[in-house]
Amino acid sequence: MSGERRAELAANLEVVRERIARACDAAGRDPADLTLIAVTKFFPASDVDLLADLGITAIGENRDQEVSAKLLEVRDRDRLDVHFIGQVQSKKAGSVVGYADVVQSVDRPKLVTALDRAAGTAGKVTDVLVQVNLDEASGRGGVAPSGAQGLSDLVAATDHLRLRGVMAVAPLGVDPAPAFARLQELARAIREEHAGAGWVSAGMSGDLEAAVAHGATHLRVGSAILGTRQSHR
Ligand SMILES: *Cc1c(COP(=O)(O)O)cnc(C)c1O
Repeated sequence: MSGERRAELAANLEVVRERIARACDAAGRDPADLTLIAVTKFFPASDVDLLADLGITAIGENRDQEVSAKLLEVRDRDRLDVHFIGQVQSKKAGSVVGYADVVQSVDRPKLVTALDRAAGTAGKVTDVLVQVNLDEASGRGGVAPSGAQGLSDLVAATDHLRLRGVMAVAPLGVDPAPAFARLQELARAIREEHAGAGWVSAGMSGDLEAAVAHGATHLRVGSAILGTRQSHR
């Protein structure tokens, strides 16, 4: 069973890495400048272990309860960076800061305050990305583009959070390129003020090529690596 699963994950990863290589080729970029985050939400710790064996160094998760339990079972937890990519309730800030190496979904001042306080209590400095809402019709979370700079300034002024850049999900069902171009523009403006904020987390299974073309540094790929999620569990 686990041999079969390993072969399946290895084959999927190969396809994804090939897609990234081709997109980098087309964009004149170096694949070494991109971090592939395997989004393991809804999949078990055993899959995380197999992916770590296959060279994955970062995972993405979006539900606090699920990930805190899962990480207790992961073998090489210390070799993996955990990126939290889901909406964070302020009251969960302490829990999330406890295991997340990066919180990608910072989208409001109240959450900045809660995460900063929690990181201070834990005696750490946590990397964060400001999540931008590129699809104002949807309730997916994220600060409006016009508020991204202000929220970034707020993060950068804290003692226990480190502003690393921006994150976004492209609108569904339309060409993602204009949204990613807009994100790239925002990222550039924010980086002018905050030199350490060079990360652009954009691109998922369906649109990673467009994200690579528009300067993504981090790709969050779930189903193309792990297979289809059962979303009602
Ligand atoms: C689930 C999720 C992903 C991965 O999506 P796929 O289409 O399965 O690659 C990426 N980003 C966020 C924010 C997610 O919630």
